[in-house]
Amino acid sequence: MGGSGSGRRWHWNTKDTTGSYRCLKIQHITHDARRQGKRLTPGATASVRWETPGGEAVIGTLMFNWTDCYYGGQRPWFCCPNERCRRRAAVLYLTRDGLLCRLCLHLAYPSQREDRAGRLLTKAQKIRMRLGGSGNMFQRFPPRPKGMHRNTYRRLRLLSERAWSASLGAIGERFSIGNEPIHEQR
Ligand SMILES: [Zn+2]
Repeated sequence: MGGSGSGRRWHWNTKDTTGSYRCLKIQHITHDARRQGKRLTPGATASVRWETPGGEAVIGTLMFNWTDCYYGGQRPWFCCPNERCRRRAAVLYLTRDGLLCRLCLHLAYPSQREDRAGRLLTKAQKIRMRLGGSGNMFQRFPPRPKGMHRNTYRRLRLLSERAWSASLGAIGERFSIGNEPIHEQR
């Protein structure tokens, strides 16, 4: 393939190539381009499609930024798609709001995730307490109170357990993305 490649576009579908990636590395783009017989060159953009946790397909356009390499040539970086940031990044994170660099991710998400995890935990605890238990999630689930219909009890138990596991999921997501130590409040 000749020419400057300026303005070339291609589609990069996270569903095809990645399965469960939560982030997009610049290598994903360069490898994929090579696989398709293309080359990422200055001025090129990439159109990326991925699915949000809700199953929606989102399409975004990526722009790149180039720096000189020690051994000659240039290497590409992502340009953070957040227009108020636009930092150079080697990794972008897939979020329901689009692709963000690490810094934007930390600014936009950790507290929200903790809030969500907290809300879900509270929900799980409230159900246990309503059934006469404590809010301690490590204790056995409280037994069915006298007079409560079996189906009602089963439904509440399911709701509580779902909220609890979703809460753990929300926390887990944070740690796997952030890769940062847990800071405990004293
Ligand atoms: Zn950013």
